Amino acid sequence: MRKYNFYAGPSTLPVEVLEELKEEIADYHGEGLSMIETSHRSPMYDRVHEETIELFHELMGIPVNYKVLFIGGGATLQFGMVPMNLLKPGTVGEYVKSGSWAGKAISDARTIGQVRILWDGKDSGYTALPDPVSLKPGNDAAYLHLTSNETIGGVQWKAFPKTGDIPLVADMSSDILSRTFDVRDFGLIYAGAQKNIGPAGVTVVIIRDDLAAASPENLPAYLRYKIHAEKNSLYNTPPVFAIYAINKVLRWLKARGGVAGIEKLNTQKAEAIYSVIDGNPGFYSSPVEKSVRSRMNVVFRLPSEELEKEFITRAKDKGMLGLKGHRDVGGCRASLYNALPLEGARALADLMKDFAAEKG
Ligand code: PMP
Repeated sequence: MRKYNFYAGPSTLPVEVLEELKEEIADYHGEGLSMIETSHRSPMYDRVHEETIELFHELMGIPVNYKVLFIGGGATLQFGMVPMNLLKPGTVGEYVKSGSWAGKAISDARTIGQVRILWDGKDSGYTALPDPVSLKPGNDAAYLHLTSNETIGGVQWKAFPKTGDIPLVADMSSDILSRTFDVRDFGLIYAGAQKNIGPAGVTVVIIRDDLAAASPENLPAYLRYKIHAEKNSLYNTPPVFAIYAINKVLRWLKARGGVAGIEKLNTQKAEAIYSVIDGNPGFYSSPVEKSVRSRMNVVFRLPSEELEKEFITRAKDKGMLGLKGHRDVGGCRASLYNALPLEGARALADLMKDFAAEKG
């Protein structure tokens, strides 16, 4: 029996993808070897590599003047790579500090160059976001960086700022491929794979050609977007297993109506949980301002830590895993990534209703 997996990442993957991987693991399509045993320069792997890039372009509507790159080091390496590549002397990296992950991106950028915090959610305890229209990057800005979804705090941008000539850079680790948006509003997007894209081990970077071309020469090769772009993410050995699995996740997504199709489902899943929170105001509470509640990571509290513990144990007994909030904030968190079925969200909503009726 597969359990309903609400972990924040690594997180649930489509069972169809896991079954296919199992099926092919020792002998890929009668080739007599596994995809993870072949050279990353073999035609067998190359087909998967190329198709995966094409699927990203197709599913996200990525224009031809952007490259899709596969880089190791997690989204965490991008906290440093972005300023290393884009933050030139005399310019400023502008950031929206929306929570823990934005905070980490900012700390790393400060080790590289000059940083300006354009908006800070500190006063609200990082439960709100700025009006995108109000954000005006300075003339000296090299880029404006935001975190489209704060995985720990559960706040999610619903619309993005228009930054004109200043490249907009986004950490989309926890909501990429979950909803439609216009890639052309961004100069660079990065996302660790282990939430909506596939297994851990690769970070997807979507970068406009002019930004990739401008990487400084005095960086080690692996840290330069230009090298990854010129070599089509084959400068060195890419994380082949992760890319191979991603290929299957993207095919799975395409067969389900693509990003627009999954967005409808994600909206229903999130509404199932938030409606229980709002319907039981004396028992459940969401710290997040309603207009920016995340559809990917629903954070909520119960009346006491004891009840939270009991609820999480009850859920576990009923086959629902990973509902403990992040250790920095406590409480509960239900991650509802693309591969979590609607039935999973409904089962959790039912349990929440029953638990509130019993204990409230
Ligand atoms: N950004 C966000 C929004 C995240 O949720 C995470 C991981 N949970 C990271 C960055 C860091 O990703 P990684 O562990 O892949 O370095």
